[in-house]
Parts: sequence; C-alpha cells; structure tokens
Amino acid sequence: MVNANQARRLVVLGTGGTIAGRATRANDNVGYVAGQVAVGDLVAMVPALAACPLDVEQVAQINSKDMVLGVWQALAAKVAEHLDRPEVAGVVITHGTDTIEETAFLLQTRLRPSKPVVLTCAMRPATALVPDGPQNLSDAVAVAMHPGARGVMVVCAGRIHDAIDVAKVHPYRTDPFDSGDAGDLGCVEEAQLRLFRPWPDAVRQGSHDHAGLQRLLAAASLPRVELIFSHANADGEVVRALLGHTAGAARLRGLVVAGTGNGTVHDDLLAALKQAEASGVEVVVASRCARGRVVPHAGQPLADSGGLSPVKARLALALQLLEV
Ligand code: ASP
Repeated sequence: MVNANQARRLVVLGTGGTIAGRATRANDNVGYVAGQVAVGDLVAMVPALAACPLDVEQVAQINSKDMVLGVWQALAAKVAEHLDRPEVAGVVITHGTDTIEETAFLLQTRLRPSKPVVLTCAMRPATALVPDGPQNLSDAVAVAMHPGARGVMVVCAGRIHDAIDVAKVHPYRTDPFDSGDAGDLGCVEEAQLRLFRPWPDAVRQGSHDHAGLQRLLAAASLPRVELIFSHANADGEVVRALLGHTAGAARLRGLVVAGTGNGTVHDDLLAALKQAEASGVEVVVASRCARGRVVPHAGQPLADSGGLSPVKARLALALQLLEV
C-alpha cells in the first residue's frame, strides 16, 4: 500500500498539438503540422525528466481544433485509470493550445481529481529554432510533483492556470493564456512553485469523481448546443434555422448566446431565443467581453452562464443536458 506522500510516479499522456508539431523549416512557426512527434520523444527532449519515474502513453495525435467526444472519452478514462494507481502522484497531458481550455474544463468538472492533472502545450512546434514545449513540459512536471497539488490546471509560459478560468487570449505569443479577473493560480520558477490562490476544487476522498466520469463515458454523443453571438444588426434567422432541425442527433437541445456587454442581446435575436425556449431549448447567456462576467440583475431575460466564457458555457450546457 502506497500512501499519498510516497506516490512519486508520474504519467505523461500525449494528445498532439503544436508541442508535437513539425515544420519543414526551423524558422516556420505557423506553417507546421500539429500532432506529429510522439509524446515519448517530447519527454526525451527534457533531460531533467530522465531522473523522474514516468509512464508515457500516446492517447491521441491530433490538432486540438479537431477535438471530438471519442478523444475526450479516451483521455478521461486514461486519466482516471492512472489516478487510481496508488503509486501515481499525478498526470501530465500534452495538448494543443486551441481547445486546451475546453479539455481542462471537461476534466475538472467531470473528475474533480484529488491528485493533480496538468495540461501543457506549446506555441512553437517541436522543430522551431526555440521550441517552448520542453520548458512548459518541465514546468508541468514540477506542478504535478508538488506536494498537495490537486485538480486540473493548465501550465504554460511559467504560469499556472485553473481549468475553470483559463482562456486562450492570443493566437501567436508564447504566453497565450489568461485567467481573467480570477488571476493566475501561481507560477513556476526554476521548478519551484509560488501559489497565489488555492488549488482547484477536488473530491474529498478517492482519486476522482467516478459518477461524473461514468456519465461522460456512457455518452454516444453530446447533446447539440450551439454558440451564437449578439452583435450590431443581429436578427433571429440563425436561431430559427436551427429550430428547423427537430429530429435525430442534430436536434437542437441548447443555445448559448455571447451577449454584448453585461449579457444584453439584440431585440430581434432575443425574440427568436424566447421562441427557442418556448419550444424546449435551453438558452444561456454569457458575455462576449474578453474579461469580467455578466453581473446578475433582476429582470434578466435569459439564464446566466454563472461567469463562464461563451465557449465553456456551451460545453457546460452540453454536459448538463447529458444528465437529463
Ligand atoms: N495551434 C494549436 C496549438 O497551439 C494546435 C492545436 O491546438 O492542436 O497547439
């Protein structure tokens, strides 16, 4: 029997992304193909990891823009399986930056792991003149090995982000994430951690929330939830077209509207959203503003996302609809 203090083994799961990307020229930071280099080779690029007891597994090899339910299910099942091993201290996942915030949100809300699950990535391919992946991977390992660490996090550019708050805010910089008003969870400096706020929420006992995982793994598909924007000159045409699909897997179950400012919605679009609600579609409003959240007030015409970004509110609603 291994107790929590003796668990020193780490698992690194590869899913692809730019961190595993390959370009034909070392000075090409955008024309590369993501998801080419095996996760074992990424680990081998970080000499310090040679001393660390690691298990390395390739779960997928994709560009994360192409994420699908099947990969999420395979990844969540693998994470859970390894977290259940008493000798495992934590799990590190290499992932593309583009949808890392969605995968992190999914894993945190479904598993709420009592051990650390650290997603990391890169903005430069493995073949770049100066790849950022090796340092990010090394930092992620430092977080996953930190005593007391728990929950799902994203580590990039020396910053530790909570899965719920993190968002990609820049398409090119090597420090592309921000945690908005909540702020970073901490930072990694020379493999040492400085924490600014508590670890993410976790289950009290056991390695993760088994019930949350089982519902995800049993799903044949995610309920259809579409994300639309309110903007100048908006109307209800898209909503009405979506309502036209009334049968089968394509049947619309939910709508998230990225509202202007404090979650306001163009009157013409709002009328169509109310029509959608009346026909049984769940409608949620978030703010399209990059920072802050909708400040709740009496008389709000639509249900509020509770501070989630539009993208995360869409996933949260799909997961919620899976349960009903
Ligand atoms: N451009 C992406 C990245 O930075 C590719 C991906 O998300 O897989 O990782």
